[in-house]
Amino acid sequence: MADCIFCRIVAGQIPCAKLYEDEYVLGFLDINPINPGHSLVLPKRHYAVLTEVPDRELEACIGAAKRVARAVSRSVGSAGLNLLQNNGRAAGQLIEHVHFHLIPRDPGDGFLTSWPGKPYPSGQMEAVLEKIKAAL
Ligand code: 5GP
Ligand code: ZN
Repeated sequence: MADCIFCRIVAGQIPCAKLYEDEYVLGFLDINPINPGHSLVLPKRHYAVLTEVPDRELEACIGAAKRVARAVSRSVGSAGLNLLQNNGRAAGQLIEHVHFHLIPRDPGDGFLTSWPGKPYPSGQMEAVLEKIKAAL
């Protein structure tokens, strides 16, 4: 994908602060971090969203994310860490090459300050459950 920023980083055409690399995966610092140490882990091959990634490559990404998460948390001394993965514009995805955010967190850092969960209206949870189960 010639016009994909992350493919160009994988190809070495755009520099990055590389943290991790193996056969399937690249990990580097996000250029505009939520907090210092905010990192990105992604498959080297181009896939737009999570559901397109073959299991083998996804497993490699998750294994690498775990390893990088541990190193990020230890090195910046964060109290917590979010593993975040956006799929589609509606979910906040700007770069259409699937990637995992590893975001070190501290109390009061101002990120994700609200989680606007709300209960299902009566009967709707069962209907949603049946639809999802039928689609599995
Ligand atoms: P998204 O909104 O697609 O989930 O997140 C894209 C992330 O990529 C953003 O956090 C943004 O700061 C980061 N990003 C965008 N362009 C570059 C770049 O050229 N280099 C690096 N290291 N990160 C980038
Ligand atoms: Zn790409």
